[in-house]
Amino acid sequence: MDALVVQSSNALACMRLHHHTYHRHQIPTIGVRKDNNKSLLRAVGSAKTAGSTNLQFENLIWPSPSDEIPFWKKDFPAWDMNSEQPVDIAKDSDLLHVVHVTAEMAPIAKVGGLGDVVTGLARACLSRGHKVDVMLPFYECIQKQQINDLALLTTYNSFHDGNWVPTNAYRGLVSGIPVIFIEPSNQFFKGQYVYGGSYNELEAYLFFSRACLEWMQVTGIQPDIIHIHEWQTSGLPILYWDMYHYLSLQKPRLVITIHNMEHYGECSQEQLNKCGLDGSIYATVDKAVDDRTIGHNPERLCLLKGGIVYSNAVVTVSPTYLQQTLCSGWLASTLIQNRDKYCGILNGIDTAMWNPATDVFLPAKFNAQRIEGKKMCKLFVQRGLGLGSEYNRPGNIASRITDKVPLVVCITRLVAQKGLHLITHAIKHVEQHGGQMVVLGKASDGRVEREFEALADMHNQGSSIRILLMYSEELSHMLYAAADMVLVPSIYEPCGLAQMIGMRYGAVPVVRKTGGLADTVFDMDDQSHAEIANGFLFEGIDEGSLNWALDRAFSYYREKPKEWGDVVRKIMEIDNSWSNTAGKYIDVYNSIRMKQ
Ligand code: ADP
Repeated sequence: MDALVVQSSNALACMRLHHHTYHRHQIPTIGVRKDNNKSLLRAVGSAKTAGSTNLQFENLIWPSPSDEIPFWKKDFPAWDMNSEQPVDIAKDSDLLHVVHVTAEMAPIAKVGGLGDVVTGLARACLSRGHKVDVMLPFYECIQKQQINDLALLTTYNSFHDGNWVPTNAYRGLVSGIPVIFIEPSNQFFKGQYVYGGSYNELEAYLFFSRACLEWMQVTGIQPDIIHIHEWQTSGLPILYWDMYHYLSLQKPRLVITIHNMEHYGECSQEQLNKCGLDGSIYATVDKAVDDRTIGHNPERLCLLKGGIVYSNAVVTVSPTYLQQTLCSGWLASTLIQNRDKYCGILNGIDTAMWNPATDVFLPAKFNAQRIEGKKMCKLFVQRGLGLGSEYNRPGNIASRITDKVPLVVCITRLVAQKGLHLITHAIKHVEQHGGQMVVLGKASDGRVEREFEALADMHNQGSSIRILLMYSEELSHMLYAAADMVLVPSIYEPCGLAQMIGMRYGAVPVVRKTGGLADTVFDMDDQSHAEIANGFLFEGIDEGSLNWALDRAFSYYREKPKEWGDVVRKIMEIDNSWSNTAGKYIDVYNSIRMKQ
């Protein structure tokens, strides 16, 4: 630690100032150009790949914690994902029309991995030649300038609580994907954030589910597949089979992807009545009753269970999570009964959106062959956050980074699932062992937020820890690029994208062996998996288990720098892209589609 040159003493004064200006679910600004700071515009995105590193290094305008505008909020070159469709993908012969009905979509309405998955899978299927649309609530917080070619498509009525609600359907393009935005004229989906508005969320999503089917009915559009996600849209398969299939919709078949079994959409019969169904019909074990309340509260239903029962295919997001959900949790019996239509497909990442060789948010680009830009990203982030860095040491700039101080990042929603006690322990452990750590996280629970604020107060004044309580897409890209390690200590993790994104940006994963983490990370010290080894695993949920993995990662980093470099290059080339797994979804679609 004493080898470090501390950058700035007023770092945290500035950072705390900015904490409170960012909020959960803040909408990122990909594709939006703000032209009020030309200097950083020159610095970021100046080279496509990590070519003349020293030149880039000397020309870079370095950020400082005392900058009036923090470095992740400055100007970035416009990023037009419309032009980033992969061109070399072979087209499928048997083409489908798929409509995703979802509560989230990256980057315009992203809260967590669900948004990334919808966009990534939709883009992968589009590039294989399929017709794909996404249907999304027109949240008030969506920035309209992020939507290309936005136009009103249809005005129609959809049902809620005994009334027909005038509703607009808009059409626009997001990241090259056609999106239909549903905008009711009532209070639903109003507010600053995707979730947590001052309206009844369950009723709003039931309304949205019906409004999507109503729109199909009104326009006569009948896709082959309606692909729904999570509890929010789980009312749709029930509405489809018990209402719209008796009206005009015949062709669509339903797929549900469960991204997280923990959220299941607790629903009363009365609430189901409000979308026009007879709630009492669904209060049976084979339909949608919440099994835990049988005998004392038959009123309580579970939308996710209804979605599982009424969909033609049920997918969850990794093979290990599939097994876990069949063995534990109260929905296990429903899943076992529906085992023949239930499968696990590992999520992918969108390798055009997450590409360190072209990422507009990075101060220097890099790839597995030209890795030097990664060092610059690390230094850039260290300087910008006021973390100790070796920039001021004598010698050639690029070569003077001796990299004895591992930088660990943890980018996550701050919820119990993510292993909060392990994150807080890691902060202490990393500091004690001479590393640096940045937590970028947003809590939805006030108690958790206060706990992390207290931690930020305690640690952010020093030179090795930064706890940033906000949502920032831009900063997340920079942190993945800067990191030597990405920590994912989840108690359970259906799939997890952070470890995959981290690897794509050369950050070695240190993760708890559960769910999709167990399917994507293989331990460096496990000789039986030497050829696929790519990170450090631990199994227990105790602090000692985490220490064991972190200590092994730190030793490897410090004592075997050449081998570490080899691992960094290796993980950057692992193919976790959607092109690898979208085909499995297409197989599922084909297995249930209505044959002509
Ligand atoms: P989950 O869906 O449970 O939130 P995943 O690992 O599947 O977890 O996906 C999380 C996604 O959200 C990743 O793209 C991650 O980078 C992003 N993310 C999480 N928290 C933040 C944050 N505070 N700021 C920016 N991005 C975040």
